[in-house]
Amino acid sequence: MRPGHLRAEHVGVAVADRDLVRDVVLDVTPGEVVALTGPNGAGKSTLLRTFYRARRPTSGRVLLDGEDIWRMSGRRLARRLSAVVQEPPGEFELTVYEVVAMGRSPYKRAFQGDDAADRRIIMDALDALDVTALAQAPFDRLSGGEKQRVLIARALAQRTGTMVLDEPTNHLDLRHQLDVLRLVRGLGVTAVIALHDLNLAAAFCDRICVMRAGQVVADGPPAQVLTPALLTEVYQVAADVHAHPRTGVPQISLHPDQESPS
Ligand code: ADP
Ligand code: MG
Repeated sequence: MRPGHLRAEHVGVAVADRDLVRDVVLDVTPGEVVALTGPNGAGKSTLLRTFYRARRPTSGRVLLDGEDIWRMSGRRLARRLSAVVQEPPGEFELTVYEVVAMGRSPYKRAFQGDDAADRRIIMDALDALDVTALAQAPFDRLSGGEKQRVLIARALAQRTGTMVLDEPTNHLDLRHQLDVLRLVRGLGVTAVIALHDLNLAAAFCDRICVMRAGQVVADGPPAQVLTPALLTEVYQVAADVHAHPRTGVPQISLHPDQESPS
């Protein structure tokens, strides 16, 4: 599971006459964890879709270890890059175990079953996401947060060096939000994670990349990116940024009583 080098080279996505993503340049070095943030509709999911090949850029290229991902076979890409997407698919009759086992399919021939090594990897992924007790439950009957954890377990079972996660903490309670980010951070893989919680982004990510209206407007270490001026400009909120008393990581306090300063 060698961490990948993910590069977006002037990636654009245009639909009809609108640019959903415009000229995005992003270089994520092996093992780096990057948070992707920005207001609703900024283009984060659209950009991430170009990384896991759910959408073809209308301009520019996405490279993994120097290779254009659109020139790779689906299997080859799936062995190197996994994605946790925002809209969980309905998995009908599948159990949680079976959903996580799907993570092994890029390594299989048609109809080839799971061997002992696969089962170990699946069990480890279930355990890492705290869903072992749900293994035999029907996926469709889980809560939003449980589904989310199962889908992360599936990506984990894929054992890829690069992960793309679109708001993976969305439905999760506080403990599981921390668990998921700690886990991804601890894997040593390259990761791009769309995240709204900037305090979590600052705590767990090497860099924060901020998008607005399809473009990257800031990209750098948390302490450099998270400034009151940026929060006002991008989100139209008033906020203080201070160092976390224990870790020194920048943390944001919103001013709930203040009108948006735009
Ligand atoms: P984010 O994830 O940052 O909230 P998205 O990437 O989902 O933003 O969407 C960016 C913009 O592109 C939004 O205004 C959304 O409505 C629009 N959009 C997304 N997908 C399509 C599509 N297939 N066709 C047209 N517009 C789209
Ligand atoms: Mg989105």
